[in-house]
Amino acid sequence: MTVIALDVGGTCIKGGVVLDDGRLRHTERWYTRAERGQDAVLETVLDCAAQLAVRCPTADAAGIVVPGIVDEDEGVAVRAANLGWGDVPVRDWLAEHLDLPVAFGHDVRAGGLAEARAGAGRGCADFLFVPVGTGIAAAVFSGGRARALTGGHGRAGELGHVVVRPGGERCRCGARGCLETVASASAVARRYSRATGRRGVTAHEVRACADAGDAAALTVWSEAIEALADALATAITLYDPARVVIGGGLSRSGESCLTPLRAALAERLTFQDPPEVVAAGLGDRAGCLGAAYLAQDLLAHAGAAA
Ligand SMILES: [Zn+2]
Repeated sequence: MTVIALDVGGTCIKGGVVLDDGRLRHTERWYTRAERGQDAVLETVLDCAAQLAVRCPTADAAGIVVPGIVDEDEGVAVRAANLGWGDVPVRDWLAEHLDLPVAFGHDVRAGGLAEARAGAGRGCADFLFVPVGTGIAAAVFSGGRARALTGGHGRAGELGHVVVRPGGERCRCGARGCLETVASASAVARRYSRATGRRGVTAHEVRACADAGDAAALTVWSEAIEALADALATAITLYDPARVVIGGGLSRSGESCLTPLRAALAERLTFQDPPEVVAAGLGDRAGCLGAAYLAQDLLAHAGAAA
């Protein structure tokens, strides 16, 4: 089974082709340029898919994953603020455009699915996949079930909007003191700029400053890790995962972030069994691979039903 896979993000659209052996090939990246508005971004997504279809004329299906609130059953992107999308029937439009069956999903849950099958979640029946980057979310895998928890409205796993600093900074969701206001990549950069007056610094650069002993950078990072530990302690208390797989930009910082995160969690957990805390295995390919798995599953189910 050969499938086309697309992971649509606020900055980039990542695409590729996955063959039977599960390897991602013909990977490509296009800028989303979300400021152009819903119709233009949709046009770009359909174009990207068509380019992949030309490169891989034997594709049997396509998979596409998007951020935000998605209705996986209906194939609709209900709201994706960073794409400027509302109520877009992505699955049906793409299926018509490519004349192929299309599987549709949520980027973080699909990334978790990929980590479950081919990455750091492999062999673990109960784990949380937590990408920490521009945003923060969690995909909850429980009881060995193949799919992450979606919730009653497709909103399960919004870890970034767990309030960890009541009365704190206003979050883009409207609440105050959400985890994202302290620990997202943009929050780390913003908080460092505020403390030092240095502008245009990325979270990655703040990490490098912290590693070099910069006091302000160390403070900003340790506040981010503490906040992440607060939110994760809540998630661990609710879901009792055996493993927490940290993805996104934070996972690239490796042990310099994971070691203090484990220590901060150990301080917070009392009766709970501490889960293993590991870095994700698939990097930024997870979403695309997850989209491919959704497409392969769609074909397998269609085959089984026939
Ligand atoms: Zn929020």
